[in-house]
Amino acid sequence: MSRKTPAFLATAVAIAIAAAATGQDRPKVGFQDTPLLPGGKWHVHDGRRPQPAVVEPGTASTQEAPGRPPSDAVVLFDGKDVSHWSDGKAGPAGWKVEGGAMVVTPKAGVVATRDEFGDCQLHLEFATPDPPRGRDQGRGNSGVMFFGRYEVQVLDSYHNPTYPDGTAGAVYGQHPPLVNAARPPGQWQSYDILFTAPRFKADGSVESPAYVTALLNGVFVQDHAEVIGAVAYRAVGRYSPHGPKGPIVLQDHGDPVKFRNIWARPIRRDDRP
Ligand code: MG
Repeated sequence: MSRKTPAFLATAVAIAIAAAATGQDRPKVGFQDTPLLPGGKWHVHDGRRPQPAVVEPGTASTQEAPGRPPSDAVVLFDGKDVSHWSDGKAGPAGWKVEGGAMVVTPKAGVVATRDEFGDCQLHLEFATPDPPRGRDQGRGNSGVMFFGRYEVQVLDSYHNPTYPDGTAGAVYGQHPPLVNAARPPGQWQSYDILFTAPRFKADGSVESPAYVTALLNGVFVQDHAEVIGAVAYRAVGRYSPHGPKGPIVLQDHGDPVKFRNIWARPIRRDDRP
């Protein structure tokens, strides 16, 4: 555009360009007029693709009250009882419910979801004991263990140094969190974890490993971290083959950590059209 172009014309042209860029003023085109996307199944803007399922989003929690899960979530703990959990064997979960929270009962052992999950989105909230007791790994320790074996660490990491791959937000023994986003003891903290299950070949070898992406208190702490293998202490974890789904297990590490507002959404990546 020349320097002599009137200002109003320049503005009109700019608006037209912007509208074209967003497709607002374009004539509607059939999908056959647009190029094929990689994979060759769908065209760009292909109206034949299935519409995404409608999900009513949940609401955020506050320190005073848990929020509401999204409409399609599998609710695992809503503050009332531990009926969705077992002791990881055939028996009932041994943890108590107090004031709307599920509380680790030391020596009662783990609790495990009765439902099994593969790839999933998991939300849960936890609060470590206040006043705090102990130090290092002995302070507010629990954990979220997908398939009962891939642990995302729960710990009181507020002014409590420990080895970095054991900090809250860590894939335990493997990947420290990107940052330490822990809240003080007694405060409710939130985990939002996207877990990709590992896949195994028929001969039991790993076809693709597990991955963890996580936000702790809304802060990005794990970025598609490749899980090396099952959780291990002072050892490098290894994979042993298992099925496509397994329980989500919460660890009893001897500290009365509280949990609330636990829900999961299975992710059906493989079914996506
Ligand atoms: Mg732990």
